[in-house]
Amino acid sequence: MTPENLPSTIRHWIGGELVDAADGRTFDVCDPVSNTAYAQAARGAAADVDRAVAAARAAFAGWAGLSNRARANVLYHIADVVEARHGRLALFESYDSGLPITQAKGQARRAAENFRYFADVIVALGEEAFRQGEEQFSYVVRQPVGIAGLITPWNTPFMLESWKLAPALASGCTLILKPAEWTPLSASLWPEILAEAGVPAGVVNIVHGIGKEAGQALVDHPDVPLISFTGSTDTGRHIVRSSAQHLKTTSMELGGKSPVVVFADADLEAALDSVVFSVFSLNGERCTAGSRVLVERSVYEEFTRRLAERAANVRVGLPSDPVTEVGALVHPEHYARVLNYVEIGKKEARLVAGGERPAHLSEGNYLQPTVFADVDRDARIFQEEIFGPVVAVAPFDEEAEAVELANATQYGLAAYIWTSDLKRGHRIAHTVESGMVWINSHNVRDLRTPFGGVKASGVGREGGVHSIDFYTESKIVHVALTEVHTPRFGATS
Ligand code: NAD
Repeated sequence: MTPENLPSTIRHWIGGELVDAADGRTFDVCDPVSNTAYAQAARGAAADVDRAVAAARAAFAGWAGLSNRARANVLYHIADVVEARHGRLALFESYDSGLPITQAKGQARRAAENFRYFADVIVALGEEAFRQGEEQFSYVVRQPVGIAGLITPWNTPFMLESWKLAPALASGCTLILKPAEWTPLSASLWPEILAEAGVPAGVVNIVHGIGKEAGQALVDHPDVPLISFTGSTDTGRHIVRSSAQHLKTTSMELGGKSPVVVFADADLEAALDSVVFSVFSLNGERCTAGSRVLVERSVYEEFTRRLAERAANVRVGLPSDPVTEVGALVHPEHYARVLNYVEIGKKEARLVAGGERPAHLSEGNYLQPTVFADVDRDARIFQEEIFGPVVAVAPFDEEAEAVELANATQYGLAAYIWTSDLKRGHRIAHTVESGMVWINSHNVRDLRTPFGGVKASGVGREGGVHSIDFYTESKIVHVALTEVHTPRFGATS
């Protein structure tokens, strides 16, 4: 179903104006159900990034100079306007990315919450002071880093854009956002949202385009001192290398292959619900998906059989259909990549559910929810991020083996532990190599907490004050309160 008012062109937003690419080039924007182009988006390059940086520079003093309260008020306003657009946003997001409409509907609320939360944080934030007896007093001044470069992926694009926009704006940065080229549609709503909310022209600039062109130009720009990136590990590595040229501050939220460890003493019904939801919601295109399920051997066969049954019952269908639980994968290139992993998996492990295009969907990027059992730790489907509705299951005999298997990949984003023995739950939480752990739960976020990964899953933390730390520089001011004794080098009297 095609949403009403679908734009046929998606333009940059620079200095408060919608503009074409400087060289007039565009790229095709397709939907993942028909895989045909429905719009043309401006194809940004260095000249567009230059123009956006100039606009962001011109707006910087005004925005950074507002009080925290004044910026927070604008952020609250943005949240209200985002929520007022929730219907259109959900339709756009679902149409462009293939997310089931029921899951796209939650995105506006989550995006609005990001703005409200960071408005609250910036107003509540104090700055540190240090006193050395009666002699010296030192205090910290937090200043916005400057012009922020925000680069985002195509999974839940609008929500992830808000996750970066909100703290950057709260901190007083002006910015350039480069949305993912496979899903620019929902980002086309930002100009009207931000303008209506009263964000001054040039504070937020959006340059669309291909990663290697527009994204790279942003990373290479000498006047953009900070890059916040969410995307794949390979791209992240490349961006860190490029950023070294200008010694930029970077935050890297990268890929994952997160383990779910299920012990026999767990509430197995709840664990099963959680495993199914964690890996098949958002089409499995979720960085924190529990895509490796490690199950204690005494319940392994039973758990795997029930997981396969549930997977077979998950409703795959049109993203616009409210009963759909898994929609269409975002792009034919990504779909081919996921299918390739399924073929690899068929050679490496025992396929117990899915593994094919659903019979009732002859077109579009659809895949049956797929479960592989008896997956060896060296298997590629155990080691590599697939980023689709595919899960690898393996047995373990003892706690130590469970931890070893959980840690046996290059990634370290999230981990999920299911046990009724809380001592064991905490023990494993402390030894598992990941940035985030949930015990007896799927991924339920608290915006105050640090978000990020270890190993190949990322560098740095966002969320809560960690985000404010990232988007601001702390300057220390030391003040002498008494006469300071200074050795008098070179003095003759
Ligand atoms: P990607 O790395 O291909 O692209 C991400 C963004 O980077 C896009 O906007 C792209 O245009 C841009 N880009 C590509 N090459 C670039 C370059 N040379 N210079 C600058 N920018 C460039 O990732 P993707 O396929 O869009 O997203 C999926 C990946 O994102 C998965 O690996 C997933 O795990 C990860 N992800 C991580 C988190 C997290 O918080 N850790 C959240 C969501 C997604």
